[in-house]
Amino acid sequence: MSTKRIAILGSTGSIGIQALDIVRSHPDDFSVEVLTASTRSKLLIEQALEFRPDSVVIASEKYYDKVSDALAGSDIKVFAGSESVSQVVSHGMVDIVLNAIVGFAGFEPTVRALEAGKTVALANKESIVAGGALVSSLIARGRGRIIPVDSEHSAIFQCLVGEGEEGIEKIYLTASGGPFLDTPPEELKNAGPEEALLHPNWDMGQKITIDSASMMNKGLEVIEAKWLFGLRPEQIQVVIHPQSIIHSMVQFVDGSVKAQLGRPDMRTPILYALSYPRRLPSGLPPFNILEYPGLSFHPPDLKKFRNLALAFDALERGGNVPCAMNAANEIAVQAFLRKEITFMKMPEIIEKCMKNTAWIPEPGLEDLKETDQESRRIATNLIKE
Ligand code: NAD
Ligand code: MG
Repeated sequence: MSTKRIAILGSTGSIGIQALDIVRSHPDDFSVEVLTASTRSKLLIEQALEFRPDSVVIASEKYYDKVSDALAGSDIKVFAGSESVSQVVSHGMVDIVLNAIVGFAGFEPTVRALEAGKTVALANKESIVAGGALVSSLIARGRGRIIPVDSEHSAIFQCLVGEGEEGIEKIYLTASGGPFLDTPPEELKNAGPEEALLHPNWDMGQKITIDSASMMNKGLEVIEAKWLFGLRPEQIQVVIHPQSIIHSMVQFVDGSVKAQLGRPDMRTPILYALSYPRRLPSGLPPFNILEYPGLSFHPPDLKKFRNLALAFDALERGGNVPCAMNAANEIAVQAFLRKEITFMKMPEIIEKCMKNTAWIPEPGLEDLKETDQESRRIATNLIKE
C-alpha cells in the first residue's frame, strides 16, 4: 500500500493537531503535502519544519513575511490569503484533503477540492450545512467524494460499509447533551462562556464547544447527516446519550440496528477517514466495554435547546436557509464568547436571521457567499441593538 499524501486545512486547530499526531505515528502510511492555518503562524512554522510539506498557506496575509522568512532556505513554498487556501486543495500531489477549518471559511475549499476530484475527509461540517445540495450534486456528477470525520457521521459511515442505501430505515444521531444537559432552563439565562466551554466528554475548538453547549452542533449534524447519507428529515432521530460511547446508530428496514462504539477521542474517526478503506492501529488505550455498564438514552429537550428545533426548521425550508442559519450562528457564538450577548440570545438572533434573509431555492456558490454575508450583517446589527 502506497503512502497517502494529505493536505491538512486548519492544521493549527484541534482537529488539525490531532491529525498531525496520527501522521507522526504512521510515517509509512501518510505524508503531508500541504498545511494551512489562519493566524497561528508560529505553530504553522513548527509544523512545516517537522513535516516538510510541499506548500504552506497562511490565510491571514499579515503573517506572510514571518512564515516566509522562517521557511526561507527550505524548499517549502509559502502562500498567503483565503484564495490561496482554496487553490492549494487542487494540488496535483494531494490524494486526500482533510478540511479542518472552522466555519463557512471552509466551504469554498471543500467545493474546490471536490471539483478537482479529490477525496475530502470532512471535519468542517459548516461546508455541507451551508451548501449541501451543491456539494452533493458535485459528488453525484462523479467529482470527488467525502469521508466524514465528525464522530457521529463516521459512525454511520462505518455502519453502512457493505450496505445498500435502500435498507436504511432511520439513524439515531447521538448527542452528549453538553455541559448544560441538567441545568434548569432559568439558570441557562446566566450561563457565561466559562461554563459553556466546559464540555464533559470532548476537548475541542471554542466554536464547536459553544455549539455543543447550545445544541447547535447537533442541529448542524442533523443537516450534515441528511446530505451525507441522502436521508429525509424524519429519518434522523437525535438521542441524548451522555456517556458518548455509542457514536451513532443505523436502524435497517428488517429491524436490525448497527452501532459504532469507542472512546470519545477524535483521533479514531480522523484516522479512519484517512486510512479508509483500511484500518490501522491507533495506539490509543484499548476500549473495554466492561468499563461502561450504564449506557443511557433519552430524547432531547427542544424547548430548552431551541437551536436544535431551528436546525430542523432550516432543513425543511431548504435552499439558502441553512446557510443563513449557520452564518448567524457563527456571529452569535463570537458575540457570546465576547460576552456581548447572553446564552439565550443566540437562538433569537439565529431565528431572526433565518426569517430575514432573502430566500433562494437553489443557491449556487456565489449565492451562498452572499447569503453568508447578508446573514452576518443582519446578525451583527441585531447584536448592536
Ligand atoms: P479550531 O478552532 O481548533 O481550529 C480551526 C482551524 O481553522 C485552525 O487551524 C485555524 O487556523 C483555521 N481557520 C480558522 N479560520 C480560518 C479562516 N478564515 N481561513 C482559513 N483557516 C481558518 O477548530 P476545531 O475544533 O479543530 O474544528 C474544526 C472543524 O472540525 C469545525 O468545523 C468543527 O465543527 C469540526 N469538528 C471538530 C471536532 C473537534 O473535536 N474539535 C469534532 C467534530 C467536528
Ligand atoms: Mg460530532
